[in-house]
Amino acid sequence: MADEQDPKQAKPNTKPHPFDGHTLMWIAWAFFVYYIFIDLNQTQSRLIPYSQFKQEITEKKVESVTFKLDEIHGKYLGTTADKTNSFKTIIPAIPDADLLPLLESNNITVVALSQADPKWLQVLLGILPWLLIMAFFIYSSRMLQNRMGGGRGGLFGFSKSNARLFEGSDNQLGYADVAGVEGAKQDLQEIIDFLKQPEKFRSVGAKMPRGILLMGPPGTGKTLLAKATAFEAKVPFFSISGSEFIEMYVGVGASRVRDMFNEARKRAPALIFIDEIDSVGRVRGTGMGGGNDEREQTLNQILAEMDGFSGDEAVVVLAATNRPDVLDPALLRPGRFDRKVMLELPQQGARVDILKVHSRKVPLSKDADLTEVARMTVGFSGADLANLVNEAALFAARENLVDVNRAHFNKAHDKVMMGSERKDLLNPNERKRTAAHESGHAILALKLPHADPLRQVSIIPRGMALGTTEQLPEEDRHNYAQAYVETRLAVMLGGRCAEKIILGDVSSGAANDLEQATRFLVMS
Ligand code: ADP
Repeated sequence: MADEQDPKQAKPNTKPHPFDGHTLMWIAWAFFVYYIFIDLNQTQSRLIPYSQFKQEITEKKVESVTFKLDEIHGKYLGTTADKTNSFKTIIPAIPDADLLPLLESNNITVVALSQADPKWLQVLLGILPWLLIMAFFIYSSRMLQNRMGGGRGGLFGFSKSNARLFEGSDNQLGYADVAGVEGAKQDLQEIIDFLKQPEKFRSVGAKMPRGILLMGPPGTGKTLLAKATAFEAKVPFFSISGSEFIEMYVGVGASRVRDMFNEARKRAPALIFIDEIDSVGRVRGTGMGGGNDEREQTLNQILAEMDGFSGDEAVVVLAATNRPDVLDPALLRPGRFDRKVMLELPQQGARVDILKVHSRKVPLSKDADLTEVARMTVGFSGADLANLVNEAALFAARENLVDVNRAHFNKAHDKVMMGSERKDLLNPNERKRTAAHESGHAILALKLPHADPLRQVSIIPRGMALGTTEQLPEEDRHNYAQAYVETRLAVMLGGRCAEKIILGDVSSGAANDLEQATRFLVMS
């Protein structure tokens, strides 16, 4: 899924709570530091034994004393080299009746404090540990939420749906940006009409489909098509992935579903998109243990919400999957996801259109031929083609050129198909064997009448392959004539034959050819 714009949360809640985790954490730290500071201040006076304290009184060294709970803090007369100016001592548990008369007879100033610290400070210091624990708890719950993509709702916010909302200028992708899926666009046109003018459909008593299932391999544009449908209908687009509902607590997924549907209803007409619905919508009751409860509850809630749509709510749910075979039949029942739109890997013509869409902003040189690129990219999805155009543009930028040429597309194709070049890998013997092997493929591809035209032969190792022989079919093939099958098999096995003829033996390099030939034979 590639969402180009920065999405809003479905329910923005940007106002911070006055006592959120951060604030509490700071308050707690402030008190902690203050406490330490006070403590440090107090420990600056030297602790002396009670007997020494009395001795120093009689020796007239003490100027004043302050009684503070079970401590006596005192000040010496003047400062001596070996002592700090103040001291403290602990009053023994047994009352000393002689102390006060002794102090008075030595003219020592006596001060008595009712409490060691102001009362408010004592109370606060008492609750400080609790504050710290609470702050830590709130703080870590927020961190957890942020990591899970929720990021709002405070301690109890797990139940808020984390669907992303695209609305107005957030969503700029229309049907002009989705190429090669004309059938699917037509199927969805009715939904666009309904979302644009729900009253028109209601007035004639027409019931619109509530759910549409977009099926197809990854990267075929399911997300893009859903988003473009919302754009064409000019309605808010709620996007969430099935796996985002699931949290470690049972029941969270269900309440997220409720929250998302409520939001969508409030903003109706609206379109909800649930990507990877198979992650919550698998056939129920097949899993082991309690881990499945959460998934099932979430699925049940989706079904309940869809059943609960009243006739006048213009909310349509699009869901995407690349595993329609594992979906629970309850999801596909009439009134739920009863319409299906299939997106296939694009054919040659569709690939040209998709390449055109993606090279709109890429200046192409005259020799760059998108039809040729489309011919080279059998089996590529829309996402792969978008990536290919980008790779070609990167090659051009690396060479400081202002437009993308044919060579850039070729390089990008080789990189995407087979990985980057590994120049250092082959020793001379291996290179010779690879050359012999590839020449076998190439000669047969050139000479056999039904072979696809040869595109390139290379003995530069890329990815896992030591060398490659590439053919370029004129058009995509869907079934194969016998002559074509035999030719393909001959070309595939040609490498092994060439090794035997030129070098007298065969190597493990042919193992992959044998595998491919076997697979092709089974398929055709
Ligand atoms: P899916 O949801 O089927 O896995 P996406 O919709 O996320 O695929 O497609 C990923 C990207 O591939 C899109 O953002 C777009 O750039 C490109 N893409 C896929 N299909 C098409 C298409 N038919 N036309 C144009 N671009 C496409």
